[in-house]
Amino acid sequence: MDISLLHSALKEEKKFRHVQADQAIFVDLIDDWSQASVFPGTLRERLNQDCPLEIKAEISGGTNKKSPAKALITLADGEAIETVLIPQADGRFAVCLSSQVGCPLGCVFCATGMNGFTRNLKAEEIIEQFLFWARYLKKQGGKIDNVVFMGQGEPFLNYDEVMKAVKFLNDPETFNFGARRISISTAGIINGIKRLAGEKLQVNLAISLHAPSDKLRSNIMPVAGQTPLKKLLEAVDAYIIKTGRRVMFEYLLIKEVNDRDEDAIMLAKILDKPLYLVNLIPYNPTGRFLPSSPSRTARFKELLEKAGLPVTARRSLGQEIEAACGQLAGKKKKS
Ligand code: SAH
Ligand code: SF4
Repeated sequence: MDISLLHSALKEEKKFRHVQADQAIFVDLIDDWSQASVFPGTLRERLNQDCPLEIKAEISGGTNKKSPAKALITLADGEAIETVLIPQADGRFAVCLSSQVGCPLGCVFCATGMNGFTRNLKAEEIIEQFLFWARYLKKQGGKIDNVVFMGQGEPFLNYDEVMKAVKFLNDPETFNFGARRISISTAGIINGIKRLAGEKLQVNLAISLHAPSDKLRSNIMPVAGQTPLKKLLEAVDAYIIKTGRRVMFEYLLIKEVNDRDEDAIMLAKILDKPLYLVNLIPYNPTGRFLPSSPSRTARFKELLEKAGLPVTARRSLGQEIEAACGQLAGKKKKS
């Protein structure tokens, strides 16, 4: 599917046909023009030729309503990206969207980062991932409740297209999907944090921190070399002052790398501010490191809580299909 073809495919048609087409694709979630019953048969046939709606994807997982599913979507130019459907404990569904093919930031714990960068996604290609899961869930009588930009890529290095996609999802004429239900995670691109603060959108911001000092952080996240923690946290504070919104700090627990008591104590010091939240994430193995043990994780959490920080610990889903955070390599299976 390439939704940018729709405009030219309908250029000879009256305005109301455009409105009907948008309704059919984004509200009724059709996956073939033959289902667009408001259109005459000739138009349906022509649209199936000129703007086919099929999304080419290979699904893995999702064997029951509680297990995550991953889709490898092939784009018009043959590149492939991954997107994940994550059933949540309360029966709701989150989808994890990719913003780039690969990622240029090269975090050493992340499968996406290890494979380098190919290109930015267009807004349409981001929307296509959402549309794919919306159709999938509709067939099971469900719907998407939350969206996280935590798939492949750094959303703030593709700011304009990501924002275009967010605004499209949010548009009452299309998906009417509330901005409060959308979270964007960044490895710390300061310019993106500044720009988001200026948007009149209630999108949630998450920062991938993963280390309490510049020294440790730059060992695992090369981007830390350009964005010292001091500058990063100043940008976050300015964002909070401007928006009044909470900010989530993601902290991956990697065995004997960033999980020592002194790391927790240092982290508690730098993150002890109103509207800062900490989310501890188990490291999903990508080859190089080991995850922290459950007892180490519990101890780390306890130290942060003792210091008075609001902390959550995320359960990891999807390791068995390599759909967990940081495991999205976007590789096609060899056949
Ligand atoms: N580039 C953005 C968003 C995509 S990564 C960012 O880094 O924030 C989404 C999340 O997955 C980030 O918090 C990232 O640090 C985390 N992640 C990367 N590799 C991981 C791994 N191996 N195990 C668990 N989480 C990982
Ligand atoms: Fe890129 Fe995020 Fe992976 Fe780092 S963790 S390499 S920023 S996708």
